[in-house]
Amino acid sequence: SGLNGGASPQPAVIRKTLASWVGFSNLPNQVHRRSVRRGFQFVAMVVGESGLGKSTLINTIFETTLSPPKVVPEPGTDRGKTVEIQSTAAEIEENGVRLKLTVVDTPGFGDFVNNDDCWKPILDNIEARYDAYLEQENRVNRLKMVDNRVHACIYFIQPTGHALKPIDIEFMKRLHTKVNLIPVIAKADTLTEEEVELFKRRVLADIEHHEINIFSPPMYDRDDDETAQENEEIIRKIPFAVVGSDQVVKAPDGRNVRGRSYPWGVIEVDNEQHCDFVKLRQMLVRTHMEELREKTNDVLYEDYRSEKLRAMGVTQDESVFKETNPAAKQAEERKRHDEKLAKMEAEMKMVFQQKVQEKEQKLKQSEEELYARHREMKEALEKQRLELDDKKRRIESGRPLTPEKGSKKRFGLGK
Ligand code: GDP
Repeated sequence: SGLNGGASPQPAVIRKTLASWVGFSNLPNQVHRRSVRRGFQFVAMVVGESGLGKSTLINTIFETTLSPPKVVPEPGTDRGKTVEIQSTAAEIEENGVRLKLTVVDTPGFGDFVNNDDCWKPILDNIEARYDAYLEQENRVNRLKMVDNRVHACIYFIQPTGHALKPIDIEFMKRLHTKVNLIPVIAKADTLTEEEVELFKRRVLADIEHHEINIFSPPMYDRDDDETAQENEEIIRKIPFAVVGSDQVVKAPDGRNVRGRSYPWGVIEVDNEQHCDFVKLRQMLVRTHMEELREKTNDVLYEDYRSEKLRAMGVTQDESVFKETNPAAKQAEERKRHDEKLAKMEAEMKMVFQQKVQEKEQKLKQSEEELYARHREMKEALEKQRLELDDKKRRIESGRPLTPEKGSKKRFGLGK
């Protein structure tokens, strides 16, 4: 079954050729610190009720068939009792930049009569991926680290036009401190322009009311105005109203476009006037992929790891300090410093323990090998002793020694 299957086993990697420019080859420009040579790993998760166009959107973003559209199950069909986790990996290359892309799908989410704990298997999967990473970090050999952490979670909101549903709020509240949440309004072509605007405002109001953190490009991350303006344009579109399509249709002016055709006209996926697909893809792939990876590593994973270390016994006092009291402030700074030291110590301890274990394992192995060698030698000597005993007995009893095969001839020749 696919339950939690995405965490540890590596899915088979499919090599894909791209139909046209996707944009991730801009990644080296997004990277400041990390090595480009190793290639990039990016894990995108999609969550939302079945039939909301998750597979189609992923395929539209990456211009390739990563996950085949699924048949929407009939209402009432028994498709299992829990949300499944399915991951597909592909290695795609663009302008010499290699991207190891994993798409994690979560079929079953929101599809049951009782959807109360739908978020749980998804949270478990995200945490299992963090654990797998933590385990690698504690290994002595850290050269071949595989980053299977989820870097972005695209959450598909049903285009009801009303407000968020309890299941949406529950999911986002449970997950927002664990993963970069990117809410999108699915199948935006089923709403009118005005409906989309109104719905977006309501969704944002709900998100704010429930104090949910969603991923958003930083307003002033770099000093140039162009980037700031670009980011602002992206931010203004959140939550992205998206349309996906793997079909090429004819626009009224005769152009062949990716889109969906209706009696009243054609919705173009790549037309910013028609939907926010372009902005979503720009953020996810062309301008903020590295930001998503960094935030996952520096903030979300870091918080998870500290929490885990704390649970393992590194207690940290959580008392709140008053800003106004300089002595308290100083004490707080000292405390932070101590905490940092304690954390480092705990980490070093973990690594140390790991090393000791590995050493012990090795010693045990060589000890066993020594024993085995000793046993072998003892056996060989014992055999020799028995043979000598035998010879001795035969000589004593006056029986001739039976020469070994071939030795007769040699005796004869020697004379
Ligand atoms: P998933 O179950 O969420 O992965 O959904 P699929 O990607 O398999 O899509 C389910 C159905 O919705 C398919 O028939 C798609 O062609 C259709 N679909 C996908 N995206 C859109 C969209 O943006 N608008 C409309 N109207 N239909 C879509």
